[in-house]
Amino acid sequence: MQKPNYPYTGKAASAPQAQSDYIIEVKHVSKQFEDGKFALNDVSLSIKKGEFVTILGPSGCGKTTLLRCIAGFQVATSGDILLNGEDVTQTPPHKRPVNTVFQKYALFPHLNVFENIAFGLKLKGFDKATINRKVKAALKTVGLTDYEDRDTDSLSGGQQQRVAIARAIVNQPEVLLLDEPLAALDLKMRHDMQMELKDMHKQLGITFIYVTHDQEEALTLSDRVVVMSEGRIQQIGTPTDVYNEPQNCFVADFIGESNILTGTMVHDRLVHFCGHDFECIDEGFGENQLVEVVIRPEDLYIFEKNDKAQLTGVVDSCIFKGVHYEMWVKLDGPEGETPYEFLVQDYHAFEPGREVGLLVKPEDIQIMKKERLCNTFEGEIVKGNKVEFLGADWDIPEAVAQQFAVGDEVIITVDFDKVDLHDYEDEGTLTGEVYFILFKGNHNHLTIRTDDGDDIFVNTTDAWDDGDRVGIAIHPEDIHISKKS
Ligand code: ATP
Repeated sequence: MQKPNYPYTGKAASAPQAQSDYIIEVKHVSKQFEDGKFALNDVSLSIKKGEFVTILGPSGCGKTTLLRCIAGFQVATSGDILLNGEDVTQTPPHKRPVNTVFQKYALFPHLNVFENIAFGLKLKGFDKATINRKVKAALKTVGLTDYEDRDTDSLSGGQQQRVAIARAIVNQPEVLLLDEPLAALDLKMRHDMQMELKDMHKQLGITFIYVTHDQEEALTLSDRVVVMSEGRIQQIGTPTDVYNEPQNCFVADFIGESNILTGTMVHDRLVHFCGHDFECIDEGFGENQLVEVVIRPEDLYIFEKNDKAQLTGVVDSCIFKGVHYEMWVKLDGPEGETPYEFLVQDYHAFEPGREVGLLVKPEDIQIMKKERLCNTFEGEIVKGNKVEFLGADWDIPEAVAQQFAVGDEVIITVDFDKVDLHDYEDEGTLTGEVYFILFKGNHNHLTIRTDDGDDIFVNTTDAWDDGDRVGIAIHPEDIHISKKS
């Protein structure tokens, strides 16, 4: 494969007059499909000219829908999309200065490489000489100069994707939208193409908006990363920001590996977790407040157990990961309590069974506000010593029911560890499935999505898998009720 070079620094063919610092502004955009489901929920995002922005998130989080709204293939249910300061929310795709490269290359099988790239230009009525010049320049950009006469089905996946990119950039768009363009390539080819895309972005000087579920790809390529979950933006930041300063547990868990634990901020710069106090650098959380603590596995020092250790434990497993070793360490703790387990990465292997010490520097302890302290629902007192919430009637103690009148609107709180999950769905008052699992050091924090689409959060030491069907039960004594003010 020849090395690509970049004579082709396309400026947009018909760029409207710039009126904004941002080439793209997405303002409070929601997208609801016919089934009532929101694929995007109040998404706002501004992208500067020439930026490489990656939209990152798990399958189904709304990445493609957001990209398609920007491209014009889908129309937002509410909110506005501006290109160069102009509202294009209702503008059809071909009238927007953007081009899209899809995961499936969608090349025309009956046309050769040159004809595939020239197709759009011919439709636009460019003369032969101009088409020839533009196609050759685009081919050079993607490193396929000698491939113009080849049938597309004789090309490798990587080469086909280059043709698809050439076909998009030949139109000299102001914005190139790329929807998982490398997903179909093998790992080595993907890494090579990532570097080439980065170079192309530099050379072309246009804005790239890239969609991927691969966090490593997002961190490698982007000026800024937009982390999405369930149709909402969780964090926007540079790759180092989202890695080093995750704003919530979802981001900490999704970007890289993390040890995530519940701790207590004793006071400024002192946090308590795993039974010990640790110096940290965070301030302003208040005193004795519950917080989330995040420690990256590479920020934990591991060594033969000695009295300098902040934490001690025994290595449970040790796996070589190519450059470093990944080890699970079971921490020493009070007898009878579920021990904490920490993930540690180090260039040196500590074999299972070794007694080790762990150390973490204050600046490597990341503190985050706890998103919620317990489950909170709105409900109503109903007949027969019951309260209705989440679409079901739940038993409550008679003494509690007597404090309210039937029809009273109430707020219900339930601690995370007071929700019981059952294998047999008919053992629960409600049914649902395990939607998201977050390991919190010595227990799992589960998001259970009920069949009506509501979420219940559960702390458990039981082993559940994503997608497991469950019956949901709550003991009457564990349902706390207060009158809605
Ligand atoms: P993936 O990485 O799997 O492609 P994604 O993050 O790009 O996922 P989207 O394709 O944007 O996710 O889909 C977001 C949600 O909207 C999903 O639940 C999906 O099933 C739903 N969805 C997408 N398109 C439609 C449609 N045309 N009709 C109904 N629901 C849709």
